Amino acid sequence: MARLLTSAPSADPARSALDASERGGRPAARADGRARAEPAPPSRLRRAAGVGWSGLKGALRPLLADAADLLYPPQCTWCRAEVQEAHALCPACWREAIFIAHPLCDRCGSPISGAEDAPFCDHCLGRRLAFARARAAVLYEGVGRDLTLALKHGDRVDVARPAATWMIRAGRELIDRADVIAPVPLHWRRLLVRRFNQSAELARRISLRTGLPYCGDLLARTRATPMQRGLSREARAANQAGAFAVPQRRRARIEGKAVLLVDDVYASGATLSACAAALRASGAARVDALCLARVAPEADGPIFSPSESEGSE
Ligand SMILES: [Zn+2]
Ligand SMILES: [Zn+2]
Repeated sequence: MARLLTSAPSADPARSALDASERGGRPAARADGRARAEPAPPSRLRRAAGVGWSGLKGALRPLLADAADLLYPPQCTWCRAEVQEAHALCPACWREAIFIAHPLCDRCGSPISGAEDAPFCDHCLGRRLAFARARAAVLYEGVGRDLTLALKHGDRVDVARPAATWMIRAGRELIDRADVIAPVPLHWRRLLVRRFNQSAELARRISLRTGLPYCGDLLARTRATPMQRGLSREARAANQAGAFAVPQRRRARIEGKAVLLVDDVYASGATLSACAAALRASGAARVDALCLARVAPEADGPIFSPSESEGSE
């Protein structure tokens, strides 16, 4: 049985602030040096121009937050305690957040015991997943869970900024090999109620910071899926199977390409696997997944399920 092994990074809390190279807002060069064939994502204001006043307000909020950074002393992303650098956690929150560290299952990114020689966790030895690799930045516990929920419900959109920093670190390898980054979509009815897709916000932030082209509508939900709460791993997979499709107009964008999917929480992997299956069936050569938080898997029992107020996966 793979024992869960996680450790907080040894780095100083200030390290959770933006790296100097990431702070300026200019997309970093890709590690492989390949030229980008596609245009950079539109600016927030240009995006907002097409969506009216409410969209403009939403787009201005992060800009105002950025302006406020210049006026006020930096605060902890979560508890608002004063810190040295903006968009960082204070030492107390940092100690509470469990950042996922090596050794990991090479497939699903689950922390595994360093004593084990196997590259995969027990779960991945006995199941088929349509994505190649998944990685997540923090465990869905304590501060990691609080931050994820605050972002999901749109109360703390500003969390997306440091969250993207952590995700870029956790998923650097996946980012470097990807051609396009796309969020797990919400069903349009859920988006209408919530008015905010946290996965899209994270994917956009990562795109802006890394230069990886963003495509917000690469995938569509073809049907609303019942809530995953309380379902077994198998039932979750059945629940999500066939729930996603690539619109015809987007097929050329993924033909033979590597796609990086972004979601806020990795629970059973069922949603990401269903998305990856749809992308692969439409011609994607490879699909990887990057999440903000990961539910700690129980080796033998049912997976812990974020309650419905918490998550849809
Ligand atoms: Zn704090
Ligand atoms: Zn695994």
